[in-house]
Amino acid sequence: MNKEERLLLLKEVSEVRGISGNEREVSCLIQRYLKDDVDHFEFDNLGSTLAYLPGEQGEPTVLFTAHMDEIGFMVLRVEESGLIRLGNVGGWWGHVIPAHEFVVKTRDGHEYIGVTGAQPPHGMPADQKNKVMELKDMYLDLGVDSRKQIEDMGIRIGDTVTPLQSFRVMNNGTALLGKAWDDRASVAVGIEVIKNLKARGHKCNVVFAGTVQEEVGLRGAGTAAYHVKPDVAFATDVAMSYDLPGAPNSPSRLGAGVALSIMDSSVIAHRGLFDWVEAIAKERKIKYCYDLLTAGGTDSGAIHKQFDGIVNMTVSLPCRYFHSHVSIIDYNDYVAMVELMTEAIARIDNEVVDALKESKH
Ligand SMILES: [Zn+2]
Repeated sequence: MNKEERLLLLKEVSEVRGISGNEREVSCLIQRYLKDDVDHFEFDNLGSTLAYLPGEQGEPTVLFTAHMDEIGFMVLRVEESGLIRLGNVGGWWGHVIPAHEFVVKTRDGHEYIGVTGAQPPHGMPADQKNKVMELKDMYLDLGVDSRKQIEDMGIRIGDTVTPLQSFRVMNNGTALLGKAWDDRASVAVGIEVIKNLKARGHKCNVVFAGTVQEEVGLRGAGTAAYHVKPDVAFATDVAMSYDLPGAPNSPSRLGAGVALSIMDSSVIAHRGLFDWVEAIAKERKIKYCYDLLTAGGTDSGAIHKQFDGIVNMTVSLPCRYFHSHVSIIDYNDYVAMVELMTEAIARIDNEVVDALKESKH
């Protein structure tokens, strides 16, 4: 892909709506982009979307995943006044919810923009001003006057509420602003890697999975891995960018390249696979850094425990401000991630798999 095509892909994956459990629009986007490249698509029964690209040798099978879901809300309750109370889907911090635009989507497909109300601070008591608001005290304002109007619009309890934010290339030319880089940036990586592998050829069977419900507990990755039964698997996701005031001194930061994840709260990378991938990055002079996350998990947490264990690791993209409307990634890190994933998967054959498994005993 040239830069223009790539930026369009990134804009589309960022702006498409798909909170956990409602990933259909993202699945359709993946299918639209890859329908002429892959042999076929399969699906698990939760909605994970599996793009199959057969290899020249017909084995082994490599799975790589990116979760399609983003965090958001559901309509929890409608007040008599027409204000909507929200139930969270995935992890939100109270500070980043008020004074933002969201889209409510009804079950018959209508979309309505609302804003999370925020009181002006004038005259607010200090104890209220200085503490983080709780979701139960917030509401979504659609600019209507009554519950009746909300009902007439077709909005019901359980309808999805998704952040609204336009994609933007920022002022240094490489910082990319968008919602849902967690984990749509990796969805774009997956689409590009499949196209690259199709063009250059590869021995192993490759399956790219857009997984569902990662943000609520790594749910779709487990069922997707069970469906595919891979010999080797990668999860691709975002990593914290530690280049901000007060952050610990850690190598994962914007512009540092693709991040190789050593450990998070859900998984410890398969050491043999980690070292093998790092050696490829070195050889190909692909910029990379390490990531070590002590809180939070990735799809790998569910994948590596399937069957009798799957050789697995997470490859990540440094990202600022994820789990808010305004996350930022770096264009060059993204390109490094595409290159490394393409190069690693293209090299996997039975010999590599045997050596990786051997490295554990
Ligand atoms: Zn994620």
